[in-house]
Formats: sequence, C-alpha cells, structure tokens
Amino acid sequence: MKILNIDQIHALDQYTIQHEPIAPINLMERAAQAFVNWYGVRFSSNRPVKVFCGLGNNGGDGMAIARLLIQLDYQVEVYVVRYAPRESDDFAHNHRRLKLLTAPIYIEQPHDIPALRHHEIVIDAILGSGLSRPTEGIIKEVIQGINRSPATVIAVDIASGLYADQPNQAEDIIIEPDYTVTFQLPKLGLLLPKNERFVGEWHIVNVQLHQRFIDQAPTSYYYTMPEEARLLIRKRNRHANKGTFGHALLLAGSYGKVGAAVLAAKACLRSGVGLLTVQTPLCGYSVIQTAVPEAMCLPDTHPYVLTGHTEVDNLPPNNYAAIGIGPGIGKAPETLAMLRDILTTIRKPMVIDADALNLLAANRDLLGLLPERSILTPHPKEFERLTQRWQNDYDKLEILQDFARRFRIVVVLKGAHTAIATPEGDIHFNSTGNPGLSTGGTGDVLTGVLTALLAQGYDPVEAAVLGVFSHGLAGDHAADARGQIGMVASDVIDSLRWEN
Ligand code: ADP
Ligand code: ADP
Ligand code: MG
Repeated sequence: MKILNIDQIHALDQYTIQHEPIAPINLMERAAQAFVNWYGVRFSSNRPVKVFCGLGNNGGDGMAIARLLIQLDYQVEVYVVRYAPRESDDFAHNHRRLKLLTAPIYIEQPHDIPALRHHEIVIDAILGSGLSRPTEGIIKEVIQGINRSPATVIAVDIASGLYADQPNQAEDIIIEPDYTVTFQLPKLGLLLPKNERFVGEWHIVNVQLHQRFIDQAPTSYYYTMPEEARLLIRKRNRHANKGTFGHALLLAGSYGKVGAAVLAAKACLRSGVGLLTVQTPLCGYSVIQTAVPEAMCLPDTHPYVLTGHTEVDNLPPNNYAAIGIGPGIGKAPETLAMLRDILTTIRKPMVIDADALNLLAANRDLLGLLPERSILTPHPKEFERLTQRWQNDYDKLEILQDFARRFRIVVVLKGAHTAIATPEGDIHFNSTGNPGLSTGGTGDVLTGVLTALLAQGYDPVEAAVLGVFSHGLAGDHAADARGQIGMVASDVIDSLRWEN
C-alpha cells in the first residue's frame, strides 16, 4: 500500500470529488460513517462520548461523527474549540446539521474546558492533517486538558498537533491518543518511533478515495499489507525436489554465541530452504549437529572463532545458492579476514547481519565490496555505526535511503515498523510484529529467514519485504500463544508459517 504525502492526500480528495464524482460534504459523510462503523464494534453505548471539534475539515468530520453517533443512541456532547473566526464550508454545513439534534458547547477560554472522567471517550477532531503551524492559545489548552485526563482518547485521522509528514518540535503540544483512526492511507508520521506517544494503536478505515489517483501517485514510501505479502509467497511445484529450493550457507557463531547459529539455522530450515550448511568454529560443531539435525555442519579449524578455514571437503562459496553471515560471529581479526575474503569472492546477494555489520562499520573499505542487492539487517545502533547520528526520524529515513542507493543494497532497518530501503531508494514499512520481539535472538531468526528466501531465488527486495513480514507475523502468533513477555526467539521460529 502506498504512503502519500499531505499535498497528495488533499489532491486525492479533490480528484475523488471531481471524478467519482461526489459532493465534498458527502465525502466527509462517508469518512464519518467509516469512523463510526469502526467505533461501533469496539465501544458500547454506555460510555459517554465527548467530541472535540476544530473549525476546519477535521472539525467537520467530528461534527458528522457526533451526529451519526447521536442517531445510534450514543450519549454525545460536542465541544467546538473557537480559536479563529474562519470556518471551513463543510464544517459550517455539518455544524448546522448537528444543531438540529443537539447544542454544541463552545470553548473560548480555559474555564470552558470540561472535566473528563475515566470511563468517557474523547474523540479528537480538533486539527487534522492540514496542520500547518504549532498549536497555540486555546487549542493548546484544550489539548493539554485532554492529555491530562484519564479518558480514552481517539484521534480522527491524526492526533491534533501532529504533522503527518514532517518533524514536530520537541516543545509542540500534541494530543496523546489511545487510538488513531486514519482515513484510507497510512501517514508517514504514524510509523515513526519518536511519534509513538502521539499515535497510540492505529487503524486504517477505507473511505473509497479514487483508486486511479492512488495508482498513479508517485511515492517512495510503502506499507506492507498482509494480502500484498501473501501474494509474494511462491507455491511449490508438485514435482519439486530439495535442489529446487537452493543450498544455503550460514556463517554464524563463536565461543559462547553458538546459540545465534542454532536460531538462524532453524529459522532458515523453517523458511523453505532446500539444503542448509552451517559453518561454525569447532566449538559449535556438536551443538549444531545435535540441535539442528536437518543441517549439515562445516567445522572451522579454529576452536572459538570463524576463520573460514576448514579441513572438511566443501563446496566453493560461490556454489551456494545464498549465504548469510553474521549472527554471533564476534569481531576477531581472523573473522574480519574471512569476511574480507568472502566479500571479494562472492558475487551474488548475501544476507549480512550483527557483527558482520559492525566489522563493515569499522572497516569501511569493505562497504565497496558488497555484492549488489545484498541485504543488510542492522538494528538502529548497528545502523548508526554504519552511517551517522540522525537529528530526527525523517532525517534518519533520508540517511537510510542514501545509504541503500549509494551501495546498491537492501537495508532492513529493524524496529517496530521495520523500514526496508531498496537500492532504488524506496522504503517499505512493515506492518507486523510486537514488542515481544524485543528479546535476544529474534534478529538471528530473521537472518535465517532471509537467507532461506534468497536461496529459493526470491529477488532480494521481495525476500526482505516478505521475510520481515513473515518474521513479524510469527512474532504475533508467538505473542498470542505465550504473551509478549513470555515469548522467546525459539517461539518465533516455531510460529513461522508460509501460506498464500
Ligand atoms: P484537514 O484535515 O482537512 O486538512 P484541518 O482540520 O486540519 O483539516 O484544517 C486545516 C485548517 O486548520 C487550515 O485552515 C489551517 O490553516 C488551519 N491550521 C493549521 N494548523 C493550525 C494550528 N496549529 N492552529 C490553528 N489552525 C491551524
Ligand atoms: P538479536 O541480535 O538479539 O537477534 P536484533 O536487535 O538484531 O536482535 O533484532 C530484533 C528483532 O526484533 C528485529 O527483527 C526487530 O524488528 C524486532 N523487534 C524488536 N523490537 C520490536 C518491537 N518493539 N516491535 C516489533 N518488532 C521488534
Ligand atoms: Mg541482531
């Protein structure tokens, strides 16, 4: 699904109005109805609702929502924050219609702000995506009042005071909602870590804006929906054999970190690889052979770290369908030498994670050796070592895009909405996963998943989008079974499922 900027979203509204065609007031009605449908299945009518409206189109949405809720017998009070003389036309229209049912209460001064109680629901329709300057005056007072209250807060489209596609200042006063119900398309601002407090749990509701405009709109930002990810999964041919799905090589583990190799190997096997060889230091040999009997193990001559030297007969590295390197390898000089060696020999995309990334960061000439379209999977700290410190989340996205473009690689910046940057400079945000994944080893699992997909011949961008999605989904299943607190990386492996 595309993520559009605010100018594009306003143009999309206009395009829908002209080409559907639909009167603006009816489009507003449709958005309000979509919100009310969402609301109706979640909140019972015995919770009093206070709708706070601004004077623009977001306020118009709020007025229409209030009217629809009143008609459904919800107990609704409407507050209009009177901050400026100019009202939008659609606001004025919905204001008139609402007044036939109830008398709105006007807030002009701080003492007009009502007390809000725990069981009440606040619907925030003060300012929408048209925000163009920091909130101030009475709007600011109302927002602070709502934020101080124990009521459940639901933002219409976007929290009042939050910019949809540009950074806020630290001192900005912004609604801190429990939920955001956004219309039609995700907004970039909803996905960024620093905005978490101003987003809450968020949902998209469809308001049938014109698909042709969306299809043609240029963008670099995408949000992976379940149906899009599922479409990427390849079916197995009836006459397939293990050779069809590739032989992968995982270079992982060191003394005390062989577990990382085990997790990556198990995840690789659970993600459809045909054959798997795991190269570990000698100390990992019997661990791998016991814990992952499906994998072959190539023991390094070194007892504790990977050097790439082995006394066992093996394939030349270029003969593997895909290579994944990094989990638990440490940063020994011998391991750096091996990494350098691999990068000079291998000419196909690889998966590079963990200490392999830290070695790249400390030996920057290696970056130039990366096979084109390789997948790098840094968490934010590893990413910072590879690039530079960022000022804010928007700036970080630019650094991410530049880095992926410059080295012609796929960069998977891990986090709550993992951002996958392509060599072309696009960014795909993931939609699955939960904080239960914040536990050691889940990144190693991802490396195994991605290596398996490359071995099966998936294009690296598709592998990254699908692999990150499925990994997060497995995390969600694991959380269903064990709870976010009780789940561990092994549960994520056990929860991997590949179904289209
Ligand atoms: P929409 O969601 O359709 O853009 P809004 O309710 O966000 O509608 O309304 C945008 C209107 O609010 C514009 O007229 C804009 O000038 C005004 N506006 C934007 N930012 C602020 C602000 N911080 N305080 C008061 N008014 C604002
Ligand atoms: P490790 O090196 O211990 O295996 P990483 O930090 O490399 O762990 O990877 C952690 C994984 O967990 C990543 O895939 C990341 O996206 C995921 N993750 C961590 N925290 C969250 C979160 N709050 N929400 C969703 N996913 C998360
Ligand atoms: Mg990691």
